[in-house]
Amino acid sequence: MATSAIEWTEASWNPTTGCDRTSPGCDHCYALTLAKRLKAMGQSKYQNDGDESTSGPGFGLTLHDDALDIPRNWPSPKKVFVNSMSDLFHPSVPFTFIERVFETMIQTPRHEYQILTKRSKRLSELAPDLPWPANVWMGVSVEDQRYAFRADHLRSVPASVRFISAEPLLGKLKLDLDRIDWLIVGGESGAGARPLDGEWVRSLRDDCVDRNVAFFFKQWGGHHPKANGRTLDDHIWSQYPPTRELLRT
Ligand code: SF4
Repeated sequence: MATSAIEWTEASWNPTTGCDRTSPGCDHCYALTLAKRLKAMGQSKYQNDGDESTSGPGFGLTLHDDALDIPRNWPSPKKVFVNSMSDLFHPSVPFTFIERVFETMIQTPRHEYQILTKRSKRLSELAPDLPWPANVWMGVSVEDQRYAFRADHLRSVPASVRFISAEPLLGKLKLDLDRIDWLIVGGESGAGARPLDGEWVRSLRDDCVDRNVAFFFKQWGGHHPKANGRTLDDHIWSQYPPTRELLRT
């Protein structure tokens, strides 16, 4: 199984790989950098090069039919991040392929699936024609105020859990949290990481507390990814939204 180092999930599943940068949050895309390494190591999923102005070596958008069934082979329930190395709603992913991804998710209700996209407009256009089983969480990335419109697109999606990932958070952000269940916030990490202002984080946390929205602070970020930890005002914020399991207890 592909376990994940991402704090808020347990496994990753990549029925597609590759992507193209679309907004400033993509500037230091970890997947783009990793794909280049995986290509050099000869990994078969990462041999298709993308446009060099928006993508890179090994990061061309590629469909993997042979990956569609992978979660069926995981017997124990997992939180699964769908497409940690891509964007399911990228314009080059055909609707029929997205339907097949949903088919697998419907047929493996033991898992909770977390899909995160920056292509919120396409998501909102396709959402009425997709089935939305209770085990699918749908999220959009919002890195600063100019991209808050992605949350408006998300609000129209009938997913059981709607979440926003404000990572890397690049500026002060005021979000409308209506019909949003979960907010993840994190600073950028790695070489050239852009700074995270604690007041941006506190203001989002306070809004979540006021609105009773689950809040997850992933990391401060910085040059060394984990060096600055994830403590905010002496507290680790690791809340999750109410899910089917939690609601049952
Ligand atoms: S949308 Fe996500 S996967 Fe695609 S380039 Fe941007 S950060 Fe990377």
